[in-house]
Amino acid sequence: MLDISVLPTAPKADDWGFVFAGRDTVTSLRGEPGMPWRISEVISQWHVEMSSALPVGHWQGRGVWAFSVPEDSVDLSTQLSGNLYSLLGRVDDGLFHAHGRAYQLLHWRETHRHCGRCGTLTQSIEDGRAVVCESCSLRVYPRVSPCVIVLVNKGDKMLLAAAAGFQKRFYSTLAGFMEPGETCEEAVIREVREEVGVEVGNVRYFRSQPWPFPSQVMLGFFAEWQSGDLALSPEEIEDADWFDVGAMPPTPPNASISGQLISHFIESL
Ligand SMILES: [Zn+2]
Repeated sequence: MLDISVLPTAPKADDWGFVFAGRDTVTSLRGEPGMPWRISEVISQWHVEMSSALPVGHWQGRGVWAFSVPEDSVDLSTQLSGNLYSLLGRVDDGLFHAHGRAYQLLHWRETHRHCGRCGTLTQSIEDGRAVVCESCSLRVYPRVSPCVIVLVNKGDKMLLAAAAGFQKRFYSTLAGFMEPGETCEEAVIREVREEVGVEVGNVRYFRSQPWPFPSQVMLGFFAEWQSGDLALSPEEIEDADWFDVGAMPPTPPNASISGQLISHFIESL
């Protein structure tokens, strides 16, 4: 697994380099899918400055660093460039977490080049764990945005929804960002009410999953239907229905917490 308790302090030639071009992760067409580069390969292929490397942690006994390279620098004859989501479930969890954390840290650094309070350029401090504004002393650490994701049941049936804009590619559990000042349980109840118009109760925590698209943590819950008929919010939900295990629509892969909520519920029947 990725170890983030101690960050590497200086890139070594055989450390790992996770390379991103825009939102896409760039890996080699040769070798195992999703494997990162060695730092020596990152230098020889992209001529990047080591001062731009962001420390991520340690994986398989070596330091892990994140690099951002220009989108037009990807050589598709030898390199594979793709959305992080394409690696979910295709590589082991530790490797996916390393890609995800590298991407989140790059995204955070790129969106905090300037102080949010006074606009001054920020400086990296604490070995890359934070940035500070030397003008007004504002200090900013990488942010994660908590989201609740919930499987609602009505007896043996599961409430699953196709999100607007995804052409009913698959039916998933409901999810949404938490609001400031809200408990997880309140967020579950509010999101379900807003998206499909029903009231739920008996909210129980399941498990969580880092979700680097770009910087969420998904907090999984089960909840039970209490009252109301489905009334869909058209901006968010294309379609939603109660499904039983004998007639399931396409659902997300088990590598996602939505897939895990669904399979856990089915196993509990
Ligand atoms: Zn400032």
